[in-house]
Amino acid sequence: MNTNKLRFFPNNINEECGVFGVIGCSNAAELTYYGLHALQHRGQEGCGIATSNGDDIFRERGEGLVTEIFSEKKLSKLRGDWAIGHVRYSTAGGGGIDNVQPFVFRHHTGDFALCHNGNIVNSRSLKMMLEQQGTIFQSTSDTEILAHLIKMDQRNNRVQVIQESLNMLEGAFAFLIMGKKQMMICRDKNGLRPLSVGKLNGGFVISSETCAFEAVGATFLRDILPGELLIIDRYTLNFNSYFFAENPINKICAMEFIYFARPDSDIEGVNVHSFRKICGKYMAKLFPVKADIVIGVPDSSTSSAIGYAEESGIPYEMGLIKNKYVGRTFIQPSQELREKGVQLKLTPVRSIVNGKRVVLIDDSIVRGTTSKRIIMMLRAAGATEIHVRIGCPPMRHPCFYGIDTSTYDELISARNSVEEVRKIIVADSLCFLTKEALLKAGNRKELCFACFDGKYPTELYQSKNDLNTENKF
Ligand code: SF4
Repeated sequence: MNTNKLRFFPNNINEECGVFGVIGCSNAAELTYYGLHALQHRGQEGCGIATSNGDDIFRERGEGLVTEIFSEKKLSKLRGDWAIGHVRYSTAGGGGIDNVQPFVFRHHTGDFALCHNGNIVNSRSLKMMLEQQGTIFQSTSDTEILAHLIKMDQRNNRVQVIQESLNMLEGAFAFLIMGKKQMMICRDKNGLRPLSVGKLNGGFVISSETCAFEAVGATFLRDILPGELLIIDRYTLNFNSYFFAENPINKICAMEFIYFARPDSDIEGVNVHSFRKICGKYMAKLFPVKADIVIGVPDSSTSSAIGYAEESGIPYEMGLIKNKYVGRTFIQPSQELREKGVQLKLTPVRSIVNGKRVVLIDDSIVRGTTSKRIIMMLRAAGATEIHVRIGCPPMRHPCFYGIDTSTYDELISARNSVEEVRKIIVADSLCFLTKEALLKAGNRKELCFACFDGKYPTELYQSKNDLNTENKF
């Protein structure tokens, strides 16, 4: 199967990556396989696993889904009780096998494997600096930068070297670094991407999302904190925690709650399904409407639709069915083909929606083309009114932290008022949930809302130039 292509979700937001690690468990490669399978929704372009038995590092990787790349034969080559794994959606550096992680580096100070979820926004200037000092990059991925920063510094105090290297990185990152003697786990100082540790059979597992703990029978232990570097020793399994950033803040990506994470994951103590359900209740309170049924765009909006229905008293119905056997449809270059992708994946249930006033719940609107297509499908199936309620504010700014949410020119809400968007997508009414409601739903003081309000938690360095949008900042 040719997997060298981008796959997309119905609303055109592409996800970033997922990481999974195992420490001190005899079947580390198999556990990582199952862990990555549970994280497959975070990236489908490529995946890889690296293991260590304390003497050597072994790695297998490929372009495609976890089930496509790994066979029992391949897993049997991955020896050892330590492992790190990665599922990739290429947000920086493009596709190709060279960019599939984990990366393995051989060095006289010690071999190590490394994988990463997120995006380094100052990667270009760091790369230039490293290349001027003689570094040769194996890939175009920004993940490699940390490895070269670590390798470049020959001092004996490796913990200090790693902390200083991490401090040079700006952006969103959750790194797993597996040496032969130590596992290092870290999260950026804004905590933009989630990362948690669980317990399993006397050892530990690490995952971008807690849903993977259930998949391997692990129990949640704790989250890695923003700006934390956690080092686990191979022989003692002792944890040593360091904080490499001076003023860490917790601005985890709001879209993790709204859209990316699986509903059975808990992010920093909040279950994702429950969060979305509360958001649905807020939408019902803030934006009531007379209607006959509530339907959600599957799968990420189902929880919010249930919440809206519960609060409003309007029955929840399965008015749209997702064909689970299509797989993730591919990003196609033309609008026409993109729209056909939606048709393949979603079908209205005529006998449910015919003659009904519908409240349609969706998690977000990016380009607007998918929303319009869904609304037209529902109208063609006999819906008499369609009132759209969106589980986040209008997306007016691109994301530079590893989420492919399109450019300014493609974001419908960057160019149009809510009323203009309503007309474009041919809805009878359109309302967006507020930032305040999202914070209340997660019982949090802060979240990253940059794609809604443009308040980026870091400098953007070269990223804004990449989109030729300097004048819009
Ligand atoms: S800009 Fe948006 S998608 Fe990107 S990290 Fe912030 S909230 Fe998440």
